[in-house]
Amino acid sequence: MNYSEMMRAQEALIFCCEENAKRAEEEKEKKKGKRLDITINFDMDGTIADLYGVENWLPMLESHIETPYEIAPPLVRLCVLARILNRLQKEGYDLAVLSWLAKGSNEDYDKRVIKAKKKWLKKHLPSVHWDKINIVAHGTPKEKFCNSSRDILFDDEEKNRKSWGGIAFDVNDIVGVLKTL
Ligand SMILES: [Mg+2]
Repeated sequence: MNYSEMMRAQEALIFCCEENAKRAEEEKEKKKGKRLDITINFDMDGTIADLYGVENWLPMLESHIETPYEIAPPLVRLCVLARILNRLQKEGYDLAVLSWLAKGSNEDYDKRVIKAKKKWLKKHLPSVHWDKINIVAHGTPKEKFCNSSRDILFDDEEKNRKSWGGIAFDVNDIVGVLKTL
């Protein structure tokens, strides 16, 4: 191989590397394009979990007993909800839980409540892989977790829906609303 042949071979090699890098970049962009940058947030108590239907839920919470969070019956048909959520996630939506801790809690109770709520999610929606589980202090403004005007919130509390910066829905037809996305 003479000098000019060597240079040509080297140029071809560089071109090939550049092509590969370009293709990898395109692949990455394609994957990124799949993310819609829209998060669907779910409140828990009164939205998907019937905490307020548990007998003596309030005195138990006031006595720092976490059981009501664990035994709250589901408010929606969870197998239907799970199927829709998994489809939406595949289509590029992010899924999140955005729920408050108990009123007037302390650090120890917070820890137990977080555990109880996560246990509930695992038990009732085992096939859903949440992108984020935000269980935050009671009264935390939920709009703090709204990152775009297209972010969605399902919440039974009107105050939370009103202050949400994105699109907020009540709990009357969660599955129906999700089907329109
Ligand atoms: Mg609620």
